[in-house]
Formats: sequence, structure tokens, C-alpha cells
Amino acid sequence: MKMLFIFNKDEKMVLSEPHSKTDDWLARLQNSGCRITTPRRAIVETIATSQKALDVVAIFDQARNNCRGLGLVTVYRTLEKLEALHLVQRVHQADGCHMYLTATQGHQHLLICRSCGQVAYFSGDDLSGLFEFVARRTGFDVQEHWLQLFGLCPQCSQK
Ligand SMILES: [Zn+2]
Ligand SMILES: [Zn+2]
Repeated sequence: MKMLFIFNKDEKMVLSEPHSKTDDWLARLQNSGCRITTPRRAIVETIATSQKALDVVAIFDQARNNCRGLGLVTVYRTLEKLEALHLVQRVHQADGCHMYLTATQGHQHLLICRSCGQVAYFSGDDLSGLFEFVARRTGFDVQEHWLQLFGLCPQCSQK
């Protein structure tokens, strides 16, 4: 992989992948007519680099480490844009709140830890028989499904 050499404010050399997910998302936002500001960059970076699903408050808190003057409204607006561009997906929680994470490519089923937000994916549909059964029973023409399993990740279930 080709690496890019960048010098930050402290003249320290930092390595950065030329096409990091953050840069890619920022480019997509810009192409959609969105101005790239420091707060937006901080928000995008937080979600694009997170291995976990994050709620709005967590995104706000983490992004604020890189951008002090960040406002909560900007977080909501940026999330809306990212969701419209299919870059992030919403995870629905039992309590009615949402968390956000990088959208999956293709069809994936999601597992999510209730305690820490860690996510895992699985594919494969042993469920198609069930869906056919449901379609026959209800008369529905079932066209797609969306599956999220909630529970505790291995780390959290050991606590
Ligand atoms: Zn966990
Ligand atoms: Zn499926």
C-alpha cells in the first residue's frame, strides 16, 4: 500500500493512508454539496474509525476531543447526511434510541453488544425457510429482511 507522509502542527511526521475511510467519506460529503468544516471532519473521523456502534452523545464526546467548539446540532446534521449517502447505518435499540456505525457492504446480519456497542456480522441465510413460511402464512410478498441480534460480546459476558 502506498503511504503518504504528512507533517502535523508539531512537525512530527505522521503516516496516513492516502485513501483512509475518513478521507473517502469527506470526499463523498463534499461531492454531495456539503462543506467540509473542522467539526464535520471530527465527526466523520470518529465514526469512520470506530469499531463500535456509537450513540449521538458518544460521537459528540469523542469528536469534541478533536474539535472543542463542536455543537450537537452539527452531529445530528452530519449523521443525517452520512446516512443519506449510505455510509453509516442506524442500529435500533430496544429502548428506542439509535446508535450509528459504518454501513455494511452487501447483505449482512448484525450482532451488537448491549453493554459496549461492539458489533459483529454474520451472513448466510438458514432463515430463508422461515421467511418463506411466514410469506405463505401471511400472504405477504417478502422482499427483504434486516436482522439485528442483541446480547453481550464475549468480553462483556465474562464481567
Ligand atoms: Zn461488549
Ligand atoms: Zn439475511
